[in-house]
Amino acid sequence: MNNRSVWDGLYLDSGTHQRSREEGFVRVSQAAAGGRRSFDAVVPRTILVLAPHADDEVISCGGTILKYAQWKCEVAVIVVTSGAGSGPGGEAPDRIAEKRRKEFETAKRALRLSDRSEFLGLEELQINRSNVRRFTDIIRSIQPDIVLFPNPNDSHRAHRNTALLTMEALYHAPTQAHPSRDRAWLPLGAYFYETPSGVFGQGVQAETLVISDITEQFETKKKILNEIYASQTQLLSAFEGWVEALARHRGEAGRCRFGEAFCPNMTHVPLKLLLI
Ligand SMILES: [Zn+2]
Repeated sequence: MNNRSVWDGLYLDSGTHQRSREEGFVRVSQAAAGGRRSFDAVVPRTILVLAPHADDEVISCGGTILKYAQWKCEVAVIVVTSGAGSGPGGEAPDRIAEKRRKEFETAKRALRLSDRSEFLGLEELQINRSNVRRFTDIIRSIQPDIVLFPNPNDSHRAHRNTALLTMEALYHAPTQAHPSRDRAWLPLGAYFYETPSGVFGQGVQAETLVISDITEQFETKKKILNEIYASQTQLLSAFEGWVEALARHRGEAGRCRFGEAFCPNMTHVPLKLLLI
């Protein structure tokens, strides 16, 4: 198994720890008791975000995506469904799907996403063999260090099925299953993210939360939600207050102004890399 690692190239000379963004580190400065404290954090090379609909990636992890992209991490978002079921009343489903595809193209630039990001546009997301293979192939072709996806207790079916397919794919990806076995891949961490229909602590059990500090990215996240995903304005305006209140609430837990929460999932992926 050819497992690229964030640790590659870390020690260039015996005893000398080379630290730079190119080699996978970033120096972070955070408020701490009595002042500020700096520390080095490992930056993954690639993060893969599985989004059931175009906009879930922003609502759930937009700040974290922006932050890691600034740190030169490649972030690839795969939008799974066409989202044709969600739009202003009376509009034809294929027109809504086309709008959402275009909105995602704009969001891709705003979020500085990788060219390997994709809008799959599936209509009905079933848990079946061909979709498990499709998700396994996605993980094997992107070869991410970290995978972010919804949690399997999300009330929304497309979110829930995206989570279940991702988990099954994470199980298969490092094995010899499926024809893409020559690219078998084990990420360094897998995390659930929260959505308006799957909030940690409210119907979704989550004992351990990892808080990503998005204080500097929060305004941009809001702007992308409001200005780019215009087809979802009606829906999203209902969530706007929610997004801000939750970001403040998670920020309190993370000792920062605004935060996004993630729950490590170690069912098939041992946790080797922390989101910060
Ligand atoms: Zn969604």
